[in-house]
Amino acid sequence: MKSQQQYPQPISFEFFPTKTTEGAKKLAQVRDELSILNPLYYSVTYGAGGSTQEGTVNTVMSIKDAGFSAAPHLSCIGATRNGLGDLLNTFINMGINRIVALRGDLPSGNRDIGEFRYANELVEFIRSETGSHFHIEVAAYPEVHPQAKNARSDLEHFVTKMNAGADSAITQYFFNIDAYRYYVDSCEQAGLDKPIVPGIMPITNYSRLAGFSDMCGAEIPRWLARRLESFGDDIESIKALGLDVVTSLCEQLLAAGAPGLHFYTLNQSKTTLKICQNLGLGE
Ligand code: FAD
Repeated sequence: MKSQQQYPQPISFEFFPTKTTEGAKKLAQVRDELSILNPLYYSVTYGAGGSTQEGTVNTVMSIKDAGFSAAPHLSCIGATRNGLGDLLNTFINMGINRIVALRGDLPSGNRDIGEFRYANELVEFIRSETGSHFHIEVAAYPEVHPQAKNARSDLEHFVTKMNAGADSAITQYFFNIDAYRYYVDSCEQAGLDKPIVPGIMPITNYSRLAGFSDMCGAEIPRWLARRLESFGDDIESIKALGLDVVTSLCEQLLAAGAPGLHFYTLNQSKTTLKICQNLGLGE
C-alpha cells in the first residue's frame, strides 16, 4: 500500500438527519462539540428511496448556516433524473460543493427501481449535469459489498465507479486492517490513485453494532464479538474495550498512510471525541 498521506490527515463526521426540533437542537450541540477537531466536513445521510430528503436538506442547511462545510449523501435507486437534477440545483444554490453519491437500497416491497441501477450511473449523471462543481465521494467495501457476486467483480465495479468521475471514496466500517490494506493495494494495481478514506465505527452498543454489521456485511472478529457479548448490559465495559480497539485501529490506519478518517458518529460526540483525543488529533 503506497502512502496516501496528506498532512495533517483530515477527519470528517457523519450524521443522520433528525426528525424533531429537539433532535435538531441536540445534533447542533454534537456538531459544535466535534468542531474542536476541525473536521474537513460533516456529511448527512439520505434515507432509502429519498425517504429523508427534506431532513437531509434541512440538516445540511443548519450545518452550513453554522459556518461549517457540509456534504449531503445522495442515493439514486428509486429516483428519477428530473428529481435528482432538482436536488442537485438545490444543493448548488445552498453553496454545497461536496456530495456522497450512492446507489442506496430500496425498502423491501418497493419494486420501482427508478432510472438508475448503480452508483456509477449517479456519478456520471452528477458530472454531466454539474461539471466539476462537486467533489464526489463514493462508497467502498474492503470486506466486499453484501450483494456482490464476488470480491473481484465488486472491485471492478468500484474501479468503474471511481473512473466515472468520483474524487475519493469512504469505506464501509471494518475492524480488520488487513481488509483495508489489501483493498487499497488492489485498487492501486488497477490504476486508481484517488484517496480511499476508512470509515470508522465507534463501539458503544454491542447488540446494535451486531445488527448493523449483519446488514451491511461488516465483520466483527470472533474474539471481539465474544468479548463484547460477554459484557451483557455492562455498557461501561463495552465502551472501554471498544475505545481501545477502535483507537488502536485508527492508529494503525494513520501509520499505514490512510488519507484521513471518516467517523460514523451515530449523532453522538463522546466516543468519537475520545478516540480523536487518544490519537492526538485536533490539538
Ligand atoms: P454500487 O456501487 O452501485 O454497488 C452496489 C452493488 O452492485 C455492489 O454489490 C456492486 O458490486 C454491484 N454493482 C455495481 N455496479 C454494477 C454493475 N454495473 N453491474 C453489476 N453489478 C454492479 N445508504 C443509504 O441509503 N443512504 C446513505 O446515506 C448511505 N450512506 C453510505 C455511506 C457510506 C460511506 C457507505 C459505505 C454506505 C452508505 N450507504 C447509504 C449504504 C449503501 O447505499 C449500500 O451499501 C448500497 O447497497 C450500495 O450502495 P453503493 O453506492 O455502494 O452501490
